[in-house]
Amino acid sequence: MQNTKKLLSITNLKKYFPVAKSSMFQKEQLYVRANEDITLDIYEGETLGIVGESGCGKSTLGRVLLQLYPQTAGTTIYYGSTLADTAPAYVEDTLKNLDKYKQKLQKAEAKVADLEKKVADIGEDNADFYLLQDRNLARCEAQTCLTNIVKIMGGFFAVDEGGEARNLMLEQYKLNVARKGAKEKYILAKLDVDHIEHTPESERKPKEAAKLPELKSKLEAATKALEDAAGAVAIVDAKLDALRGKYAGNPEFAKYEEMRDDGIDLARLKYAEMRLFRKDLQIIFQDPYSSLNPRMTIGQIIEEGLTTHNFFKAGSQAMRDHIVKTMKECGLQEYMLHRYPHQFSGGQRQRVAIARALAVEPKFIVCDECVSALDVSIQSQIINLLQELKEKQKLTYMFISHDLSVVRYISDRICVMYLGNVVELGTAQTLFEDPRHPYTVALLSSIPTTDPESLKKERILLEGNIPSPIKPPAGCKFHTRCYMACDKCKRVPPELKEIEPGHFVACHFDQKKIDEKGNYLFELPKMERKSNRGE
Ligand code: SF4
Repeated sequence: MQNTKKLLSITNLKKYFPVAKSSMFQKEQLYVRANEDITLDIYEGETLGIVGESGCGKSTLGRVLLQLYPQTAGTTIYYGSTLADTAPAYVEDTLKNLDKYKQKLQKAEAKVADLEKKVADIGEDNADFYLLQDRNLARCEAQTCLTNIVKIMGGFFAVDEGGEARNLMLEQYKLNVARKGAKEKYILAKLDVDHIEHTPESERKPKEAAKLPELKSKLEAATKALEDAAGAVAIVDAKLDALRGKYAGNPEFAKYEEMRDDGIDLARLKYAEMRLFRKDLQIIFQDPYSSLNPRMTIGQIIEEGLTTHNFFKAGSQAMRDHIVKTMKECGLQEYMLHRYPHQFSGGQRQRVAIARALAVEPKFIVCDECVSALDVSIQSQIINLLQELKEKQKLTYMFISHDLSVVRYISDRICVMYLGNVVELGTAQTLFEDPRHPYTVALLSSIPTTDPESLKKERILLEGNIPSPIKPPAGCKFHTRCYMACDKCKRVPPELKEIEPGHFVACHFDQKKIDEKGNYLFELPKMERKSNRGE
């Protein structure tokens, strides 16, 4: 993969769904643990494939990333915009209530220290599963508390005794809010002027034409206000830079300054703030029929997002031109503009869903099983279309599918999930040629094949069902079905470790390889294996 600029960064992400209590006497609140401790970076311009059996949490992950489901814990940082441009309310809240946030951090760190000591006293290898789990949870919580402050304050977290930097940052925040407001006014004023100017003079309505000089002077005023607001921000930015220069030699300052980050924590945004990012972060669902409003024409469906995000004036020629252009890019003809979803075939409907997502010029698209409901020939058309659009428009995809061959074809990197956890992550080539996690090996060996070479390889059949995500097995969640499980696996959850650059595996025995014949080399286990030919 060429690009190493992050677009999204997820740390310790959890998503739990509460389960309704079965009776009024039930005290314990149970949760479906759909996503557990997921840490993952998504890079600009890549396609990240997510695979796993049904119920492994892959669709939930896609929806949580887009904040369609609120996350239970962890951070989801988006780098497609900056804190300065967005000026989210959580920045002001953190700066104003800094003491409260610091106390929360101290409490979380004390809890970690306490649990670390307990584990050290017993010894990591002898510690009870629940103690290890509590320690990991406490570590995640402390990390999130620290990140929440340091990502905004950077090095000033350690050295700003008198609060000089904090006051400057608050001033900077207020000026950023003013600049954001000025920018919104400028965009609206420009839309009004563009709408009239793009209509040929002979076709302009007299009332509209008469308004043009007034609208132009409004646009001039809005442009001036935006320039002034940007100038005010630049002055306070310079003051903060000077203060950073003053502390530059301080090692504590340098340590935290490295963690300062301009990305947006999506989970901390308010509902209205998150709406602004909906155009950047789009989703294409599996079933194109139920995801399109049957009472709206295709034109109206695509127009809806464009109007909401102030791309064009509703009903304008520029809007129509943009919709037709997007439809053509997605293989739809102009005459289809006034048709309803039921008048299309499945493949065409999926093209409409893609056009709707694409019209608002997104940066990131979650494709959630978006070809699973289509015939194989249509699948390949849609996949080729997605590839084409990705290259033309520099898009980033998260491609969720249970079909490994589709994922292999489209993905740059692949992430394998099991029962809410990431168990293996690497480039598509690495994962297919050198899988290290027993679950990945089993998944790969389940792909039907007619290739004589592949038929010679031993086939691993996973026994049993996926355990309940409400009470997942202790230790490694895969141990109940793993052909390599040992005592340690039943107790100690494996961490996701980078075993070679860019290749992450969560298994205590991640160093096993496949031999030259394609058979998996096991050192430990006695296990059931069957060949493809049933020998
Ligand atoms: S940690 Fe143990 S149970 Fe889990 S995948 Fe590895 S060998 Fe199997």
